[in-house]
Amino acid sequence: MIQVENYIGGKFVTLSEDFDDISPLDFSIIAKVPRTKNVDDAVGAAKSAQPDWGALSIEQRCDWLDKIANELESQIEEIARLESLDTGKPHHVALNVDANRSVNNFRFFADFGRRMESQTFQMPDATNYVVRKPIGVVGLISPWNLPLYLLSWKIAPALLMGNAIIAKPSEITPLTAHFLAKICAQIGLPEGVLNIVHGYGPEVGQAIVEHPEIRAISFTGGTSTGKIVAATAAPMFKKLSLELGGKNASLVLDDADLDIAVPGVLRASFLNSGQICLCGSRVLVHSSIYDEFMERYLEELKSFEIGPVISDEHRAKVLSYIELAKQEGGTILSGGSVPNKQGAWIEPTVISGLSHDSRTATEEIFGPVVTIHKFESDEEAIKIANCTQYGLAGSVWSKGRGRKVAEQIDSGMVWVNTWLHRDLRVPFGGVKDSGVGREGGMWSLGFFSEAVNICVMED
Ligand code: NAD
Repeated sequence: MIQVENYIGGKFVTLSEDFDDISPLDFSIIAKVPRTKNVDDAVGAAKSAQPDWGALSIEQRCDWLDKIANELESQIEEIARLESLDTGKPHHVALNVDANRSVNNFRFFADFGRRMESQTFQMPDATNYVVRKPIGVVGLISPWNLPLYLLSWKIAPALLMGNAIIAKPSEITPLTAHFLAKICAQIGLPEGVLNIVHGYGPEVGQAIVEHPEIRAISFTGGTSTGKIVAATAAPMFKKLSLELGGKNASLVLDDADLDIAVPGVLRASFLNSGQICLCGSRVLVHSSIYDEFMERYLEELKSFEIGPVISDEHRAKVLSYIELAKQEGGTILSGGSVPNKQGAWIEPTVISGLSHDSRTATEEIFGPVVTIHKFESDEEAIKIANCTQYGLAGSVWSKGRGRKVAEQIDSGMVWVNTWLHRDLRVPFGGVKDSGVGREGGMWSLGFFSEAVNICVMED
């Protein structure tokens, strides 16, 4: 049994009240998690630590990020083990997607920080230059689907820009955040620079968002929670970054190369049991290639390995959408049932015959459930892709018209003939109800700093 502790001012702290962390693999209790309700101590520690941390040079902070990356990398198998235990995902996904990217987030921002160029704007008689100052104390809140991957994607740039942090991982997946805290303590990261608190969203998450001395909130999670976060933080004029839900479409045009489209669309459908905000949960296929595509897609699905979904509660939500799909006139082409074993398992499910504007095809399910839709023209495919409240990501599969179609999809990110191919310098984020703001490269550094202009009149 692992005892998860809060990490505040460089010390590990337990609380008298805690709750169970349950493995979705078999519903066994794997950890005890402190039920934090108040972040005053963490904010106090962060406030004391921030001035010295902010006074270090960028190079010195980059060196710290590298130290964290090195230590994480030396224990990468342990990260994968913990992530797999907490989320149920297969070891190869936990290692190649989660653990690798968590290391890379620190490494990437260390390299990026060293290359950061100063910005100057010359006038005939004066020079403007931009100083990037830390915000101060920032709050970082993340979901359960890619636990350390998403939390470190916020921690690394926030540290780089000289802020002190109050971070809260999802209460469902606290293990790797706790592991990161241990690593930071072990390498001697200055006390109070990174504080990690655990607990339920409406309690400790809300306390972070409400705290007047936390001046920026970077939140990744569901759209309905994002609304609460925005409503709480906006009247205090906090900086806000919201990375929210999605209902992304994969568009398979009539000239698609099916040798890449079939495995690519399948991976986009079911990687991490469909629990990635970027997953393509709606597959749109041109009528002329529909039969061949579907035959190959369903055949390849038979050997696609997935883990359980995150919890029994989440499985009930996913199953309720499969029931809804049946009521809405859908046909289950594959899956739809619960395997006869312990844990939050559910078969990867493919549904056809639904209207593109049905609830099943427009609401976020966030599980291994995909709806299939036939279309006759590029224009129709674009119209279907754009018919939800979300606008996070998407993919287009075509030999010749990918860019043209991609540019007409109302989403923050669109891939052509690939999916989840990530360059960490590019803007990441959604439009419509999928979020506000962008993360990645310069966008993250912009968010986690205040750009101050100094205008110097020449003599
Ligand atoms: P969630 O919104 O339930 O929880 C996310 C985090 O917010 C958790 O740490 C939770 O404890 C916390 N939280 C809950 N209520 C809060 C409150 N009132 N104040 C502050 N914090 C609060 O989401 P989830 O179920 O953990 O994750 C799944 C969702 O995340 C999906 O909608 C998915 O699309 C989205 N997601 C988006 C991205 C992206 O980059 N856009 C990435 C991954 C996941």
